[in-house]
Amino acid sequence: MTSVRTRFAPSPTGFLHIGGARTALFAWAYARRHGGQFILRIEDTDVARSTPEAVQAILDGMNWLGLAHDEGPFYQMQRMDRYKAVIADMLAAGTAYHCYTTREELDALRAEQEARKEKPRYDGHWRPEPGKVLPAPPAGVPPVVRFRNPKDGVVGWDDQVKGRIEFANAELDDLIIARADGTPTYNFCVCVDDWDMRITHVIRGDDHVNNTPRQINILKALGAEVPTYAHLSMILGDDGTKLSKRHGAVSVMQYDDDGYLPAAVINYLARLGWSHGDDEVFSREQFVAWFDLDHITASAAQFNTEKLLWLNQYYLKQVPAPELAALVGARLGARGVDLSGGPDLEKAVALYVDRSNTLNVLADAVEVFYVPVSPAPELLAQHLSDEARPALADFATSLATVPWETAAIAALIKEMVARHGLKMPKLAMPLRVLLTGQAQTPSVDAVIELLGRERVREKLAAPTA
Ligand code: GLU
Repeated sequence: MTSVRTRFAPSPTGFLHIGGARTALFAWAYARRHGGQFILRIEDTDVARSTPEAVQAILDGMNWLGLAHDEGPFYQMQRMDRYKAVIADMLAAGTAYHCYTTREELDALRAEQEARKEKPRYDGHWRPEPGKVLPAPPAGVPPVVRFRNPKDGVVGWDDQVKGRIEFANAELDDLIIARADGTPTYNFCVCVDDWDMRITHVIRGDDHVNNTPRQINILKALGAEVPTYAHLSMILGDDGTKLSKRHGAVSVMQYDDDGYLPAAVINYLARLGWSHGDDEVFSREQFVAWFDLDHITASAAQFNTEKLLWLNQYYLKQVPAPELAALVGARLGARGVDLSGGPDLEKAVALYVDRSNTLNVLADAVEVFYVPVSPAPELLAQHLSDEARPALADFATSLATVPWETAAIAALIKEMVARHGLKMPKLAMPLRVLLTGQAQTPSVDAVIELLGRERVREKLAAPTA
């Protein structure tokens, strides 16, 4: 049995977006699942829209997601000689032919056909047929090359997602495979590439369904093995409309900037149109072991930011503390925060990770321990009552001798509350605000323990207290 070979073939005209990443993930996983090869091909023949920055953005996105390719990246612009050689072979074999119909003649033809309410199509004027005598080529007209598409019958395939799809050959024009200047056209290059790269499974977006019959006919004319096709349905945004830039974080690297973990994004994308029973949370390895084409849904998948956040929170909690501290430390460092004057970052992130669903939320939360905090006057006014001041002062003094552990600090807070006849929030809330500038924190004894004796005493000694 031939080994599975899949490919991801992005056009470098923008970022690696969520839809492209999902396609790449499925093609990658299918190859991995079957011990096959995953090939990266950059379809850069649209010279006007392709940029080196977009190529880099795609490579960065793949790298961030951990979708390593086994072969490539191959660039179509570097394969022009090969395409031209195949076109020459097809002309020699009679599966393609020169067509001298000019753009003006085509426009006139189209106008006539439209006037007759017919579907506009090439009339086959230059198409060779048995017994047909072709006109002499006009002087000075550089010809295009057209593929000699079969006239009759149907071309179809068993789409692994959508089921049987068939097109009548009579509906398909003789596709231009080389322009008058000799450059090969998009659908043709894809065929030569899939053939040369011995692709066994084409997994791609369903915006290509209409290209597939043309590609199958060309592949057959080349004597190439026709791959298995799986066309993935589109992804809708949270609001049910087609996912687009309007939905914000469309570029994969934007998710990195926004504090998502690749593991969470991978897990999320895996469930975007594919399922394994009711399983929602699974590792990359588990996904590879389970992935198949049978359980890809034919209907559109809907993006759900809440679910992605939920998964991200789950994965954040799985990250070992030293690694999590390094990730958060890098973000704080990029903000210019000096970590040397604050508590152990590992302990800080451990205290806040349960309350954070992104690395950025976590970094925001712990940043207060490393920068000067000046509580907003409104917060102070709201939480620091006159009756709390003596308790706070008493507490600050008692801190000098309390054993520095959460339980002892908690006991001391309780003692102060009782001694000064207060309810717990009357003391806990101003402590939170004075120490972190925030009214919401994890358990205040844990925050105090984290900050350390000296820093707490300094903060409580500030004039506002
Ligand atoms: N370059 C095409 C795209 O970015 C993909 C072509 C294919 O997968 O066959 O949509």
